Amino acid sequence: MWRATVLTIFPELFPGPLGASLAGKAYANGLWSLETLDIRDFATDRHRSVDDTPAGGGPGMIMRADVLGQAIDAVADGGRPRLLMSPRGRPLNQAWVRELAQGPGVVAVCGRFEGVDERIIAARGLVEVSIGDYVLAGGELAAMVLIDACVRLIPGVMGKVSSGEDESFSANLIEYPQFTRPQMWEGLAIPEVLMSGDHGKVEAWRRAEAERLTRERRPDLWAAYRPAPLPRTRTEVGRGKKGSPKR
Ligand code: SAH
Repeated sequence: MWRATVLTIFPELFPGPLGASLAGKAYANGLWSLETLDIRDFATDRHRSVDDTPAGGGPGMIMRADVLGQAIDAVADGGRPRLLMSPRGRPLNQAWVRELAQGPGVVAVCGRFEGVDERIIAARGLVEVSIGDYVLAGGELAAMVLIDACVRLIPGVMGKVSSGEDESFSANLIEYPQFTRPQMWEGLAIPEVLMSGDHGKVEAWRRAEAERLTRERRPDLWAAYRPAPLPRTRTEVGRGKKGSPKR
């Protein structure tokens, strides 16, 4: 079972959105587990303080290495990576999410205030993860984002295994436009090719659209894009076999 352990001073925020919908159902079905640890439980003074003023002066408070260290040491990581949610971290992307989802789970430390004492990072081998170039008030939402992205990739969580494969970022492309019924809405029709029933043409159109959107919107992804051959369609797989059904 994929396991998430979250270290936070706000354990009451969990499971939050992770308790609903896809992730919530998967949790109820025992496909993943979530455990929170209240960092405050590891404070040693009677005020249960987890933070102190920054050495060298300046605004805000810093989470203490000694308290965080006790909390981290109380977690049996079982080979799971120990992550520190941090705007300075390596940017989270779909490739990293896939790697984490395929592993045993994560231990995620949530910062608050101005951040954490630098010494804890190296001393406990924390890997800093950023969910984007903006600053949140705390690591909890970042940890939820990471866990949500991982959980949906756990086998059995999404209806179709394939739905994780050809979506945004899986090949450095963002997703092609999607449509559903009604076929005509406010005078706007679904592109004809999608109604053609020709699986090969549909795949080619989707690929071309994904490439166009990536080129237009995400030059960074476009620069890293290496086109893979289009997947063999059902028509091609069946070609040559007599009586192969055409859809
Ligand atoms: N003073 C820090 C920001 C602290 S924000 C700085 O300038 O870098 C407080 C906490 O929120 C951080 O310790 C981290 O755990 C979390 N956090 C904020 N922004 C984040 C982001 N983009 N990704 C991941 N975690 C973030």
